[in-house]
Order: sequence, then structure tokens, then C-alpha cells
Amino acid sequence: MVPPPAVQKFRESLRGQSFCPGEPGYDAARTIPNAMIDRRPAIIARCAGAADVIACVRFAREHDVLVSVRGGGHSVAGKSVCDGGLMIDLSAMKGMRVDPARRTARAEAGLKLGEFDRETQAFGLATTLGVVPTTGISGLTLGGGFGNLMAKHGLALDNVISVDVVTADGRLLTAHAQENEDLFWGVRGSSGNLGVVTSLEYRLHKVGPVLGGAVLHPVSKTKDVLFFCREFAQKVPDEVVIQGGAFTTPDGAPVFGVAACYCGSALSEGEKVLQPLRKFGPPIADMISPMTYVQMQSFFEPFFPPGRYTYVKSNFLRTLSDEAITTIATWAGKSPSPYTFAPFFEHWHGAVSRVGVTETAFPHRQHSWNLFAWSVWADPADSAKNIQWTRDCWEAIRPFLVSGSYVNYVSDEGDVFARAAYGPNYDRLVMLKRKYDPGNFFRMNHNIKPSDAMPAAAKA
Ligand SMILES: Cc1cc2nc3c(=O)[nH]c(=O)nc-3n(C[C@H](O)[C@H](O)[C@H](O)COP(=O)(O)OP(=O)(O)OC[C@H]3O[C@@H](n4cnc5c(N)ncnc54)[C@H](O)[C@@H]3O)c2cc1C
Repeated sequence: MVPPPAVQKFRESLRGQSFCPGEPGYDAARTIPNAMIDRRPAIIARCAGAADVIACVRFAREHDVLVSVRGGGHSVAGKSVCDGGLMIDLSAMKGMRVDPARRTARAEAGLKLGEFDRETQAFGLATTLGVVPTTGISGLTLGGGFGNLMAKHGLALDNVISVDVVTADGRLLTAHAQENEDLFWGVRGSSGNLGVVTSLEYRLHKVGPVLGGAVLHPVSKTKDVLFFCREFAQKVPDEVVIQGGAFTTPDGAPVFGVAACYCGSALSEGEKVLQPLRKFGPPIADMISPMTYVQMQSFFEPFFPPGRYTYVKSNFLRTLSDEAITTIATWAGKSPSPYTFAPFFEHWHGAVSRVGVTETAFPHRQHSWNLFAWSVWADPADSAKNIQWTRDCWEAIRPFLVSGSYVNYVSDEGDVFARAAYGPNYDRLVMLKRKYDPGNFFRMNHNIKPSDAMPAAAKA
């Protein structure tokens, strides 16, 4: 319990707004897109800049208050909202400056990726971010950042040049390849464990228009489509990213869709490259066409309105073997909810796989097929059956999966999960956690525990 005068003094010290229970704006500020998360922070500080973030960290330390950090609020595990503590809400920090000559952008941590893309595309530039424009750039980037430009330009975090970070002792540090290099390494993949990132500088690339969209097949054809995708994926150049899975169209048809984006400069070449995908079957619908990059980035937006219940399981496949395909196909179209995407794959290749496993804290460079069951439903009365279905589906697919998951895609899996998720980089991250956050002040995340024992080799 923090004495009310101390709370009052803290709130008055902020440049941004703040909210406490019962006040106007409080409920909207604590609500995130996943309706499964219903937590009530004692204070929400909507920071206006780095000085507010520093004030939050110092206040929370002084009064031993739990903190959570909200970027875009899209973590399906709901890590951005705490119960009873201080929520450091970055959603009002949306400053951005594009330098077209250097092809870089400095972006504040509260931007959503649709906002970021709009600013960079004004100059015909872009960098890898996710595929749903309402997702926050910072949580997405600090955990990894799969997107349509990933095979050509790497993950979102591979394009980060520099970050400003408020660490647990309340200092603001700049980290890049020549300054605080260890922090720069760790921030790229450790999902908020080392501090609050207030702004990020990204490398940009010339992008757009693109050839993109999706083809749809009846869900009964899932197995054939997956066999085709396995062959097709081996031949695609770095300009192409494909992803696909089972879902239900808005008019109620269960389908297996494959989305593709070609980001090369000659769309005529893209037409040739994507032709086999558009011919196979043939599909019952072909929505692939030339479009602006911003249109491509908005393609999936209608499928993810806020306020639905979401539960996700995700791991990389060891390989997309015949047996894995057969099992995946068994579960396609069987979800109890028409809003679910499951099973669903992303094909990871190209630039992302040319970065070494230990070059950044993000370790998942060697597996080509990331799989998830992204269960979504609208009525809380359906929660038990949808969660159970997701778990059953995952148990059936588990024999084909590696143990580590991409941190950005999972619901809360508990402590054991983190070690596998950070894989061979976990011990080095424990050392960084001991240096930058020995008291585990930042623990509302897929947590790296400073107290975890390390093998003797890692300590040396
Ligand atoms: C509809 C939807 C679509 C998605 N599509 C993609 C996709 O295409 N590609 C992809 O890679 N991922 C995707 N994701 C996953 C997404 O990357 C994660 O949910 C990510 O955590 C979202 O970031 P955020 O800032 O919105 O989330 P938040 O919930 O705000 O944050 C996520 C985590 O990061 C921490 N964090 C956030 N900002 C900061 C900061 N500035 N400093 C320190 N810690 C911070 C939070 O404390 C929390 O632990 C999607 C998620 C959803 C719900």
C-alpha cells in the first residue's frame, strides 16, 4: 500500500495522464484486445515521454510496486497489464521521424505498426513489422517481429539500429553496436526483460507496391495444399513470404487459406513467382493482386477486432514431414469457433535464417515452419471448450514440434517456458538480467530469472 499523498505527488509529477480505479478513462486504459485479460492496476501512468517513464520506475522502486509495461497491448498472454501495481502505458508516445536520405526512422515505443508503416511509406520506405496494423511496434520488435518483409530484410529486431532504454535503476541508456553493446544484444529478443524501451531506431528499405493477398481452398483439401506449400516454399526467393492455415470465411465457409506477399521491385517477376500458388488446385478464391504495401499490411485487420477471447499455442516444427502434414490436416476446420485460425503456419526463410542463433538474443533462426493454434471466440461461456480444443490440438501435433517457442505468440505458459523460448541464449540473458535488473523489477514478461542457476561454462 503506497500512502495516498505519495501517489498524488507522483501523479502530479507526470507530464502525461494517469488513471486510478473508478476514475473516468481507467477501464478503457486497462483494457487490451484479448478479452481473456481482465486485470486492475492500482495506477496507470500514460507516459508522455522518457522523463515520465523514469519517474514511473523510480516511484515503483521506492515503494516496491509491481510494474507492467504496455506498448500496443497485443500480447496474448496479457503481460502488459498487472493486477494492483503500476502499469507503465506507452501508448501515447507516438513521435516518429523518418530520415529518407539515411533510410532510417526513429520511433517512439507507443506506435502501432500501421502508424509506423504510414509514415515510412510516405517516402516509399518500410521495414519488417507484423501483419496486423493494430499491433504495437515495441512488443513485436523486442520479441522478434515476423512479417511480410522478413525473408528479404530480416525480422523487425534485425533492423533495429539503436534503442533508448530506461533500466531498473531509473537511468536512460542508449544501446547500439558501439555503446552498451551487451544491452543492445539482449534487448533484441528478450521481450522487455531488461528495461523499458522508450524509442527505437530502425533501418528502412525501399518497398512497394507489392503483389499480395491470399488464395483459398476448401478445408477438405488441407493435406494437398500443405504438400504443395512444402514444395513451393523450397523454390521461392527472399522477396516472398507465405503463411497459411485453416479458418472460417465471414460467410461461414471453412477454408484453408495461403497468404503471400512478393516485395520485389518488378511485379511482373512476382507474377511469375506466385503463379504456381495461384494455379494449384485451382483455389476457390484468388485474392492476390498488386497493392500498396499499406494495403497489404491491412489485409488481415478485419479478422482481429478487439474484445474477443484469445488463447494461443505455438512452436516451430522440426520439419514439415508427411506425418506432420497428415496430423495438421486432421485438425483443420475442427475448431469449435468460427473466429479461430488453426492450425496455421508461417514459412520463415531467407534473411532471418542468415543471422546466427547467438548474434541477437532471439534464437529461432534454423526452423522453417512456425506453427500456431490461434483460438479466438466471442462468448466467455465458450472459453473452456475453446481452450480445451486448442490444448488437444497441440498435444496431437506436439511430437513434430521443437520445445522452444516464439515468445510473442504464446499465452501464459509459466516459468518453464521461458528457458526453452530463449534457447541457447538463456544463460547469457540471465547474466544480463543480473547486471541490468538484479531484483527482477521487470517481471511481467516471459521472464528471465536473475536467480536462475547457470552452467559453469556460462559463468566463466
Ligand atoms: C492480432 C495479432 C496479430 C499479430 N501479428 C503478429 C505478426 O504478424 N508478427 C509477429 O511477429 N507478431 C505478431 N503478433 C504478436 C505480437 O508480436 C505480440 O503480441 C507483441 O507482444 C505485441 O506487442 P505490443 O507492444 O502490442 O504488446 P504489449 O502487450 O504491449 O507488450 C508485449 C510484451 O512486451 C513488453 N513491452 C512492450 N513494449 C515495451 C517497451 N517499449 N519496453 C519494454 N517492454 C515492452 C510488455 O511488457 C509485454 O511483456 C500478433 C499479435 C496479435 C494479437
